[in-house]
Amino acid sequence: NIQRPDSVVETRFDLPVTAMEFEIVDTIRNNDITIVCGETGSGKSTQVPAFLYEAGMSLSPDDPQSKFLIGITQPRRVAAVSTAKRVCYEMGQGDGQSIRGSFGKGNIVGYQTRYETAGLGDNTHIKFMTDGILLNEIQGDLLLRRYSVIVLDESHERNLNTDVLIGLLSVTVPLRKKAASENPSIVPLKLVLMSATLRVEDFTKNEKLFSSCPPAVVTVPGRTHPVTIHHSKVTELDDYETAAFKKVCKIHRKLPRGGILVFLTGKSEIVRMIKRLKHAFKIEGSARQVSCDVGEQHIDPATGSFPREVDDDEYDGDDLSTDDVDSLKSSLEDPTIPPSSDNDNIPLYACILPLYSLLSSEEQSKVFAPVPENHRLIVVATNIAETSITIPGISYVVDTGRQKCRNYNSGTGVASYDIMWISKAAADQRSGRAGRTGPGHCYRLYSSSLYSRHMDSFALPEVLTRPLEDVALSMKAMKISNISSFPFPTPPDRSQIDSAVKLLADIGCLDLSNVERDGGDGTITKLGLAVSELPLGVRYAKMLLVAAHSGVLDYAIVAVAALSESSPFSSHPSLESSEEKERLPNDEAEMDNVDSNLIKEREKLMKKKRKWFHSSGDLFAAISAIGAFTYAGRGAGGASEEHAARKFCEENGLNYTIMARIQKMRTHLAVLAKRRLGTAKGIAASSGCFSPKMSPPNKLQELLLIQSIASGLLDHIAVLAPPGSITGEHPADIRSAYIGCRSPADKPLFLDQGSSLFNRDYRQLPRWICYESVIRKMTKDGSYITVMKNI
Ligand code: ADP
Repeated sequence: NIQRPDSVVETRFDLPVTAMEFEIVDTIRNNDITIVCGETGSGKSTQVPAFLYEAGMSLSPDDPQSKFLIGITQPRRVAAVSTAKRVCYEMGQGDGQSIRGSFGKGNIVGYQTRYETAGLGDNTHIKFMTDGILLNEIQGDLLLRRYSVIVLDESHERNLNTDVLIGLLSVTVPLRKKAASENPSIVPLKLVLMSATLRVEDFTKNEKLFSSCPPAVVTVPGRTHPVTIHHSKVTELDDYETAAFKKVCKIHRKLPRGGILVFLTGKSEIVRMIKRLKHAFKIEGSARQVSCDVGEQHIDPATGSFPREVDDDEYDGDDLSTDDVDSLKSSLEDPTIPPSSDNDNIPLYACILPLYSLLSSEEQSKVFAPVPENHRLIVVATNIAETSITIPGISYVVDTGRQKCRNYNSGTGVASYDIMWISKAAADQRSGRAGRTGPGHCYRLYSSSLYSRHMDSFALPEVLTRPLEDVALSMKAMKISNISSFPFPTPPDRSQIDSAVKLLADIGCLDLSNVERDGGDGTITKLGLAVSELPLGVRYAKMLLVAAHSGVLDYAIVAVAALSESSPFSSHPSLESSEEKERLPNDEAEMDNVDSNLIKEREKLMKKKRKWFHSSGDLFAAISAIGAFTYAGRGAGGASEEHAARKFCEENGLNYTIMARIQKMRTHLAVLAKRRLGTAKGIAASSGCFSPKMSPPNKLQELLLIQSIASGLLDHIAVLAPPGSITGEHPADIRSAYIGCRSPADKPLFLDQGSSLFNRDYRQLPRWICYESVIRKMTKDGSYITVMKNI
C-alpha cells in the first residue's frame, strides 16, 4: 500500500523497467542469481528495490513476522545517499531531500555509508549502502543472514570492492541455499547484479564464478532515440576546456531547445567552465539567465536533426560559424518543413548547473528539477553523469573524451589522478545521454580516428590495474583466506598472485607459518593491517611506517618521493633520451660519436653530479639534493621561486623537471603523513608540510633511515662479491659485482654507472646493500648484465 506522489506515478510510467516489473521480479524469485541489464536511466536503481519490496521479498514466505533486508550497494557514497532519498520520496515517505523518520524507529528505506547512517531501524526493509559497508558485514557473517536479497548496482564499473563482493557472494548464495534447506527459519539469498549494457558476458560466460548456479539475465530494452555523432576533424590536445566552452556557446546560441550536457574531468574544470559560461551569457550573481535567440534554423521534426548536421561527412561538428549556417540553411531550407515549434523564436535563457561527486546531494538533485519556461538546462559534469546519474531532457552532449583516472606509480604505488582518454564504451555511454527524451546530438571534441585507434574498447577492471600485492593485501585485510583460489570475475594471473603473496610474506605483511596446516595463502599480520591502511605501494608504506616509528619520517618521505621518479642527476640535455639519462662519459663506444665540446660539457656536468654522490647510496644523494633545492627556492614565492630553483638545478647538474616532481610527491606524502601517521615525530606528521630548511640527517638518523628503507626492500638485498669469487666472463667491472640474496652466485648484480657507489675503490664499497629494482643493460660488447637501481 504505497502512496506515491502524483508526479512520481506519471514519470514512473515512462520508465522502461516499469513495463518489465513482473518479469524482473519473477526471474529474481525463480533464480539464485539474476543480472538485470539496461540502458542508463531506464529506472533500474530507483525502481528495482521498490519492485522487490512490493513483491514481499523482504518477508519470509512461511513466517510473515520475520523480516529481512533488501540490500542495495552503490560504488559511490553520493549515489547510495541520493538513490535512498529518491526511493524514499517515490514511496511517499520523504521529501526527496531527507529521509524522514528518526533513526531508531526507522523507515522503510534507510542508508549507511562510512560517514553517515539514516533511516535504519526495526521497520527498515530497503537498505542502501556503499559496497565497502557490505564488505564489512560479509566479513562478520559470510551468510549475510539479515538479508533476503542483495542488489549490486553499477556492477559494470568493476571496481575492486564490487569484484570481491561478487566473488564472495558467489560462495554465499549456495551456502545460504543449503542452510535454508536445513533450517526453515532461513530463506535463500537472492543476488541481483545490475549493469548498464556493458560487458555482461564477463559475468554470464564466467564458468568458474557461478559454476553451481548460472545467472539468469533480464534485459530491459532501451527506449532511446537516435543520436547523431559529430567528431571534430582534429583533436584538441591542449585546451579542450576552451574547445568545450566554444561548443556550448555555439549550441546555446544557434541550436533549438534541449538541454546540454558537457563532460569534463573534475571539479576545478567544472567550476572554471561555469564561470566562463556565466560570463559569456552575462549571468550575474544568482541570476542565472541569459537571453539567446533560437530558431535560427529549422528542425526536422521527424529526425530531430537540424540542417547543419544532416549526415554531412564534411562537417565534423567543430565550427558552427554563422556564414556556414546561413549558407547551409538557405541550401536546405524547405518551405514544406514547418518550424519545430511555435516557441522557437522566443529568446532562450541558460540555467547552468554543476554535477560532480563531491557536490552535496542537495546540489546534485537540482539537475532533476524542471527548468523554468524558456530556459535551457546546461549541466557541466564529470563522468558521474555517464551512468550513475541520469539527467532528464538532455538533447546535446559535448564530450571532451577525457576523464580522471587513478594511476599507480610503478615505483611507489602511490595513486595519482591523471587525465586520460575514456574508453569507447564510455564514449558511447556519453553520447547515449543525448537520446533519452528525443533525437539528440553528441559533439565529440576528438577525431573519429582517435576514437577508433586510441581508445580502448572497455576500461580494465580495477583488479587488473592496481598493483597485485596491493590487491592481495586489501583482500587479506578483508579476511579472505585463499586469494589464489578466489573466484574473481576477471582473475589475475596465478603466478602473479603467487609472487604478490611471497612479497607480502617477505616484508612481514603476511604470516605463512600456518599455511601447511590450514591451507590458504597466509594470514595478515598486525604490520600488514597497518600497511593496508596506507594508500601506497606495500614496500613504501612499510618504509614510512618503520621510519615514523624511528622518528625519521621527514627523511623517509623524501626517499620515497625520490624512489617514485627517475634520477634527478641529469646528463647533458642534448643526450637526454630517457634511457640515456644516466650514462656516463666513460662509455667509449658512445664517445666516438660525440664531438669534443660535448665531451667537455659532460665532464663539467660529471663534476657537478659527483658533488651529490653519497657514501650511503643514491637515496641519500637525493635527500641532500632535495634539501638544497628546497633551500635555494625558499620564500621567493611564485615565479621568482621557480626561477631560483631552476637556476640552482642548472648550476648543480640537476634535472629541474624531475626535482619539481619529486617535490610534488613529497608534498603529497606529507599530507598523507599528517592524516594517517599524525602521532609520529617530525614536521610532515604534525603539519602536513615540509621544512624549507631540512638539515642533513646525523649519523644516528642516517642509520635509522637505512633500516627503514631496507625494511621495505628485505628481498632486494645483495652482498659484495669477494675478489676472485666471480668466475666466468663478465663484461662489466667485476670490482662492482654483488651477489643478490635471492639470485644465483653465477649471476652477479652490478652497480649502475649512475650510482653514487660506482667507481669507488673496492675497499670503500659497503658489504651489504639494498636496491630498489634491477634492470638489464647492454654493455659495450653487446652482451647483457643486470644492474641495480636506487641503491
Ligand atoms: P538507472 O539505474 O537505470 O540508470 P535510475 O533509476 O537511476 O536509472 O533513473 C531513472 C529515472 O529517475 C531517471 O530518469 C532519472 O532522471 C530519475 N531520477 C533518478 N534519481 C533521481 C532523483 N534523485 N531525483 C529526481 N529524479 C531522479
